[in-house]
Amino acid sequence: MGNTLYNEAHLDEYVDLIMRQGINITPGQTLVINCPVDCAFFARKASLAAYEAGASNVYIRWNDDACSRIKYLMADEKVFDVFPPWDKLQLDTLSQEGAAFLSVSAADPEAFKGVSPDRLSRFNIASSTALKGYFEKIITHGVRWCIASIPSEAWAKKVFPKAADTDEAMSLLWKTIFSATRVGGTDGKACEKWQAHVARLKERAAALNRYQFAALRYNNSAGTDLYIELPQNHVWQGGGDIAKDGRAFLPNIPTEEIFTAPKASGANGTVVGTMPSIFRSNLIDGFSITFKDGKVVSYDAEIGKEHLKNMIYDIPAMDMLGEIALVDFDSPISNTGILFYNTLYDENASCHLALGSAYPDCIKGGAEMTEDERKENGINICDSHHDFMIGSADLSIIGITASGEEIAVFSNGNFVI
Ligand code: ZN
Ligand code: ZN
Repeated sequence: MGNTLYNEAHLDEYVDLIMRQGINITPGQTLVINCPVDCAFFARKASLAAYEAGASNVYIRWNDDACSRIKYLMADEKVFDVFPPWDKLQLDTLSQEGAAFLSVSAADPEAFKGVSPDRLSRFNIASSTALKGYFEKIITHGVRWCIASIPSEAWAKKVFPKAADTDEAMSLLWKTIFSATRVGGTDGKACEKWQAHVARLKERAAALNRYQFAALRYNNSAGTDLYIELPQNHVWQGGGDIAKDGRAFLPNIPTEEIFTAPKASGANGTVVGTMPSIFRSNLIDGFSITFKDGKVVSYDAEIGKEHLKNMIYDIPAMDMLGEIALVDFDSPISNTGILFYNTLYDENASCHLALGSAYPDCIKGGAEMTEDERKENGINICDSHHDFMIGSADLSIIGITASGEEIAVFSNGNFVI
């Protein structure tokens, strides 16, 4: 089958990267693929690759923005307060049995524009509550998982609004995805290049770990003036994770960040978003959030303020920070100058923070701790997690050591350590 949208050999290389380094599928393992129906051909290809790598079984969980939108508009009111028990059972069972999870992120960024925020909010609460056990498996790396993207028409048109037609937008997004994931170069295969890239991220994380900063202070001309304390024994992570079974995996392809957990009670000041944030397929833009002793005390947004409110207050503890991530302003995805309206891509082009849960392994021994122990160690416990971007060309971040010494971590948007 010929096509003019993407290079078939590059797609093979990309699928190989996802299977080997993203999921790191093992012989005999079950793979679950969450995939939009618009991307069905990709799920078939990934499924074949998984079986060839020895997977014993592959389940596909199809989703469709258009059908979900119709449901949000038309379904009975009571539907939105219940997460289907059979769906919960499937995710709980598969994650407990050690399946790996691949999610294809290709959503229309504004698929749910005009849908009742109340319905979205209630279903957000119902699903977070029902999927607590599954979410805990994900964040403690009890399963291997990977999020990767391929273009969908609605998403490609949003990213490339000036493209002559849908095919051109799709083709541009394919090329951008391959280049951002180091696929299709003339200097070797993506898998080898990713090994070197992962090693560089790990070195950078190690450099920050040696400082064990007590706090970071963020400033830029957009209005960010934020002081964030870090917990004792925090660990900067980057370049992938090790699952509980001892095998490495890459939760995100691409990944350019190094990240850790802030002290949940230790954020003070205001942070200004520098890119739109997509929450439940709705746009939030032109926003700022102010914290006092770790909690959100005020917020504003030019677009999507009601969705921002729901993001902060739907789920307990979403009004505190769970992640601090550092990405150079001068980095491969950022340098494309493209706004992706997709968290996987935008978060890897910008310094970001997340409201909600901290990744347990961002403190020493955290993945083995109970929730209460993690809380005692100062990091946020929550059933949800949402990133928002705050990087800019003039962002400065000062690290403050336990003895009060100030060391520049970021200057003019880039790492200086
Ligand atoms: Zn992140
Ligand atoms: Zn995050």
